[in-house]
Amino acid sequence: MRYSDMFLPTTREVPSDAEVVSHQLMIRAGMIRKLTSGIYAYLPLGYRVIKKVENIVREEMNRAGAQEVFLPMVHPAELWQESGRWDHYGKELLRFRDRHDREYCLGPTHEEVITDLIRYELKTYRQLPKNLYQIQTKFRDEIRPRFGVMRCREFGMKDAYSFDADEAGAEVSYGKMFDAYQRIFARCGLKFRAVEADSGSIGGSFSHEFMVMADSGEDGIVFCSACDYAANLEKAEVPVPEKEEIRTEDFLPLCEVHTPDVKTIEEVCAFLCVKPPDVVKTLIFNADGKPIAVLVGGADDVNEIKVKNYLNCDELELADDDMIYAVTGAPRGFAGAVGIKARVIADYSLQNMTNVVMGANREDYHVKNVNIGRDFKVDAFADLRMVRDGDGCPRCRKSLKFARGIEVGHVFKLGTKYSKAMKAVYLDQNGREQTMIMGCYGIGIGRTVAAAIEQNNDQDGIIWPVPIAPFEVIITPVNMNEAALAETAEKMYKLLMDRQVDVLLDDRDERAGVKFKDADLIGIPLRVTIGPKKLAEGKVELTIRNTKEVKVASVDDIVNDIVTYVEQEKR
Ligand code: ATP
Ligand code: MG
Repeated sequence: MRYSDMFLPTTREVPSDAEVVSHQLMIRAGMIRKLTSGIYAYLPLGYRVIKKVENIVREEMNRAGAQEVFLPMVHPAELWQESGRWDHYGKELLRFRDRHDREYCLGPTHEEVITDLIRYELKTYRQLPKNLYQIQTKFRDEIRPRFGVMRCREFGMKDAYSFDADEAGAEVSYGKMFDAYQRIFARCGLKFRAVEADSGSIGGSFSHEFMVMADSGEDGIVFCSACDYAANLEKAEVPVPEKEEIRTEDFLPLCEVHTPDVKTIEEVCAFLCVKPPDVVKTLIFNADGKPIAVLVGGADDVNEIKVKNYLNCDELELADDDMIYAVTGAPRGFAGAVGIKARVIADYSLQNMTNVVMGANREDYHVKNVNIGRDFKVDAFADLRMVRDGDGCPRCRKSLKFARGIEVGHVFKLGTKYSKAMKAVYLDQNGREQTMIMGCYGIGIGRTVAAAIEQNNDQDGIIWPVPIAPFEVIITPVNMNEAALAETAEKMYKLLMDRQVDVLLDDRDERAGVKFKDADLIGIPLRVTIGPKKLAEGKVELTIRNTKEVKVASVDDIVNDIVTYVEQEKR
């Protein structure tokens, strides 16, 4: 490709909403432009990268035995009603009506559509297993689209769905996809980690997220310093502490204390001369319309996902003022477990608590010396808090490490969630009807590209890993008006194209400095500089964008070097 022909509008202007470096660089490098909130156009440079990632994904999916299909993006409401998600998916599902007043949605994910296809086409165990995938546009009406194509509303996703006859088969299918994902992200040149994750609105029994390591990532992850345990922060389990015998003779008398203007845990501790572990937080949640009191230690945070999973409810949110008043008899901010009119669940860490401080269910009051059993009843203990610094690994009890990541892929064991609701059944060897076991597997294509930039950039711009670079090499004659330079540039351009290298020839009539700046900004991994001095000796210069290493040699040698380098990096 010739630079002079490219539609490559690089710019210094960065929109004020571009908070993260990948968003800024994608705009500056002329890869994307915003149409409206969360909806982006890919320009040629950006789309070349998308295609490279898609091709790696496609090759690895095919290699793992999955077959490519292309499913509709517009889904009839009936399918989503059958699975039960029409009512539960929430506002991210964009719904609309056609001229006949029939209801539809734009597909945010395709479990319903694929299950509908499969239930009519696959009838016996002989036709199983099957794994089908597509690379297609999804729409999710995200509440706060941000970070450019990282969290947008319209985006490209690879989604695969496996159908197996039994659990053992489903396990094999999951393993194949897990391995394929490892290969895909390694081939994209990314530093990543697979972590245990919550299944969220997709549902199912078990899942892993693939996280690209980046400080700007929205997800917290933890991993063990000794074994291979790794999990999303919201999923990470806390080891259950030993339960000790509680000595009731140590219980001190319950006493209410007037605590005006004392709200935060720090204020409570300062006022009552206690430490955070001596205080218990009581949070009132609304779980599918019913109040529930959740207790955690004063130094801990409630993990809402754990609470939601424990209760197995559809909707969980903090209770509003009316519900809080109804169960505590007080305004927000004074809740405690003593006398509360709600079911009480408590974190495991509170099993041994004695003589703690809590809200008194009375405005401006706390109670001291609260004890379980004597003063209130806990309906159940469970793992309900976020992990924190100092917690041990739930598998081996060694120390945990914390990091941040960007979720680029997610694999789920779905079990029979969709096949049961939508009756995707087959006949087994004995002619008996059985429900298919499903898995689903997603990769955000645009988010993977953005994550690659988050991991690979410097003050001058992007530094593409070779396998997903829009061009592998850029040829930069310092002056196109000098015939010898232009001639050598054209010659190298042809030689490299003949050897299947993705090459961009900067044939613009621009100063060398401008060309170098643009080459760095758009992140081309290799740059050939053709200047009069070196060329007089029959030589050109090769610079590696990442390491800034420079090599000076003949045209033929440099061409060979480029071919070798590119091949090596793509392996
Ligand atoms: P998140 O938790 O980030 O909202 P998710 O868990 O809802 O994502 P999945 O349903 O697992 O997403 O979708 C599979 C993949 O699609 C994700 O791993 C991610 O790479 C991509 N993806 C999801 N939502 C978006 C989005 N709003 N913009 C871009 N890519 C997305
Ligand atoms: Mg996910």
